[in-house]
Amino acid sequence: MRFLLSAVSVLCFSFYSQSQEHATAIVQRLNQLSGRYSEMAEQIWKWAEPGYLENKTTQLMQQELSNAGFSIQTGVAGIPTAFTATYGSGSPVIGILAEMDALPGLSQKPLPTRDPAVEGGYGHGCGHNLFGTGSIAAAIAVKEWMQSKGIKGTIKLYGTPAEEGAGGGKTYLVREGAFNGVDVILHWHPGDRNSASPSSSLAYKVATFSFRGQAAHAAAAPEKGRSALDGV
Ligand SMILES: [Zn+2]
Repeated sequence: MRFLLSAVSVLCFSFYSQSQEHATAIVQRLNQLSGRYSEMAEQIWKWAEPGYLENKTTQLMQQELSNAGFSIQTGVAGIPTAFTATYGSGSPVIGILAEMDALPGLSQKPLPTRDPAVEGGYGHGCGHNLFGTGSIAAAIAVKEWMQSKGIKGTIKLYGTPAEEGAGGGKTYLVREGAFNGVDVILHWHPGDRNSASPSSSLAYKVATFSFRGQAAHAAAAPEKGRSALDGV
């Protein structure tokens, strides 16, 4: 029994140290390329393109992945700026999300104090310039690792437009089955600390309702009026 336990722990340890080794190699590779990806994130920051109009951003992202040997599918779910970039074949199919949209009214120079580049313009206040770039860096680093170690499986990066506000870009991707056959989707978000969480969050859809009333004299003929507020 004791032998079995120690055999298991040796096995676990070697598995753990092996995966540590792989992770270290991938992080080292990312560090080598950090200058390249910083430039890319800064470029996307400067373009600050709104949801569904991420035209230059999506081109840059696709080009980077295409150069790295991914096959690109554009116009996913009929959205001109949505794309997938795929490497490998068979299972597991691991999806990585890459956001890219900027937000209205958040135009900003790359400074720590409020200083709009364009007054009232769009800006990357949510850090999707980092989100998209970081996801691309991850996909390429994992692809290179898979290639060098002969690891089987599929990496599928999703260029996902219009994440913010009423955009709902992924709603349409889901509806068109763009995520069918994927075993797991990984994503991340820029924040002010490093943390990992297995939690899920709510999805939302936006709808607009209008309620119309009918004006009438409140004292002389209130019965002829219809209150929009009551309708609500
Ligand atoms: Zn965000």
